[in-house]
Amino acid sequence: MINTAPSSANELPSPDESAGYGPKQICELADELISQIAAGEVVERPASVVRELVDNALDAGATQVTVRLVAGGVRLISVEDDGCGIEPNQLPMALRRHATSKIATLQDLESVSTMGFRGEALAAINAIAELTLLSRTWATDASAWLLHGQTGEVSPTARTPGSTVEVKELFFATPARRKFLKTDATELAHCVEAVRRHALARPQVSFAIWHDGKLVENWRAGRPEQRLADVLGDEFMAHALPLAGARANDGSVQVLGWAGVPDAARARADQQFAYVNGRYVREKTIAHAARSAYADVLHGARQPVYVLFVSINPSRVDVNVHPTKIEVRFRDGREVHQAVFKTIHNALATPRSAAAGVAAPAEMNSIGAASSQQGEPNQANMVDAYATPENLGNMHFVQYTRPQFAIHFASERTASFTQLDVLWGKQSPIPAAEQTGSEAAVWPLGRAIAQVHGVYILAENAHGLVIVDMHAAHERIVYERLKGQLDATQTVASQPLLIPETFAATPTEVATAEAFEGVLAELGMDITPFSPKTLAIRAVPTSLAGGNATELARSVLAQLQQHGASEVVQRARDSLLGTMACHSAVRANRRLTLPEMDALLRQMEVTERSDQCNHGRPTWRQLAMKELDALFMRGR
Ligand code: ADP
Ligand code: MG
Repeated sequence: MINTAPSSANELPSPDESAGYGPKQICELADELISQIAAGEVVERPASVVRELVDNALDAGATQVTVRLVAGGVRLISVEDDGCGIEPNQLPMALRRHATSKIATLQDLESVSTMGFRGEALAAINAIAELTLLSRTWATDASAWLLHGQTGEVSPTARTPGSTVEVKELFFATPARRKFLKTDATELAHCVEAVRRHALARPQVSFAIWHDGKLVENWRAGRPEQRLADVLGDEFMAHALPLAGARANDGSVQVLGWAGVPDAARARADQQFAYVNGRYVREKTIAHAARSAYADVLHGARQPVYVLFVSINPSRVDVNVHPTKIEVRFRDGREVHQAVFKTIHNALATPRSAAAGVAAPAEMNSIGAASSQQGEPNQANMVDAYATPENLGNMHFVQYTRPQFAIHFASERTASFTQLDVLWGKQSPIPAAEQTGSEAAVWPLGRAIAQVHGVYILAENAHGLVIVDMHAAHERIVYERLKGQLDATQTVASQPLLIPETFAATPTEVATAEAFEGVLAELGMDITPFSPKTLAIRAVPTSLAGGNATELARSVLAQLQQHGASEVVQRARDSLLGTMACHSAVRANRRLTLPEMDALLRQMEVTERSDQCNHGRPTWRQLAMKELDALFMRGR
């Protein structure tokens, strides 16, 4: 018998021998080694421990969680809770691998509503650090009990009901792992981030974080808005739109939370929080849906900010696809994508000028105020909504009512549409609707007072001065109108030209016009060859009728040629409409009369997404009286 295995099973093969190809002896790994290997999956750094321990505290129903760290959590992590505790005879079980109190059968797994269920965390942590577990149940025991992870000893001690898990010298037994750790400050930041993720979803639980004896964060239990402001800053809250997506008819998916206005977007994706049934996740479907919802209003590489709570029937999501459960898999990704996209998209559609008055931070805060004014009883529901999927059936989320100014414009709409035509040069200016002082005061974007260098419109509103980039704003208005038409009727309303306009065209332009006749018709354009080197424009979109038809035709043909036939999908379509809108929007350097300017402002107030132009740049800014005063150092 040829035996290439080492002579003794306890002896590791030498490098030379292991490089050979002969069969090797198969041995079971020692228990401790199994745990250490398994720990690699669960515990990457101190923050992973913090996450698991806070998970456990929340699963135990804690209302107060205190995290204490020393040296970024490497020397010590202690998590203290006032949860249900563990019975003394159960303490050793808690440290066993695959031992859990949270599920017992496969069916339980399908409807699991706790953060944990794999029974791995404490065992894993115990394998790579010095762990002690101190716990007292509510009533059954006279004292608290302390379990030493290494020795398995249990001894009585004093403590109020709840549990404290202490983890010292992380990775002491696996020095290779320890080398991967960053500075204390970095590890601390990760630990805080881990608690932050929990805290956002649990406004009804108080969290405190101590580092090297100093209090780093202290978030008291309270209203969700307060928690958001505490954790993400007032700035976030000031620019956040509440999301209250409708639950699908079959009750499958609902999206709640907050989405930052495009202006609040950041260079990094560091304020994007997504939760599925209360569990923080990184999930591609949700991220993609959120990104798409901003596609139209966000400039370039800017990252939107949001906190999304997706609640879904637990049987429709698999949470057991990742050891730390940070990834989940949906049974039907489309329904989730749709719900997330729609909810954010709708929230973003209402321009701030129409939604919440003018976006001075104080004003935006009134969104939060409005929701709480609406009735404290709802608050309880809201808190529930975050907690667990148990509430799935009976969850009635606060229905936010936003202060709607749009009502004021209903009667003005017709007037403004006609007035807008003035901008196309189709009609001579008509007098603006009679503006009384009080009407002007309620118009969010105010009354036009001047134009600056043919580029900006200045307006006065209740808060101070409004500055509008007129081309950018108009572009959005035209774009939304074209899109609306195309969505509603599959074609853009078209208007034949009395005298067809001809222009000298390149062979490519002629070929493109012929190849895309159908698409052009959908876009409200009729461009046909007149001679081998000439194209004739016989019809243009009604709403673009006043503009330069040749210029419009040329840029649309260029776009069509670039995208090709295969891409008559949403993106290409939107970008085509964008091109059309850009061409037709009032150009800079165009002098407008005050009524024309007012017409544009009123249009902005009723146009979806009018806070940004099609390229995601802002269309208007508010300079509040306070800011004007500051410019002149004028105290009030
Ligand atoms: P899991 O959370 O997946 O069940 P863990 O290893 O994290 O696995 O915890 C094992 C068990 O120990 C839990 O199921 C729970 O019964 C108990 N336990 C852990 N931490 C706490 C705590 N802070 N309060 C009460 N029970 C706890
Ligand atoms: Mg756990």
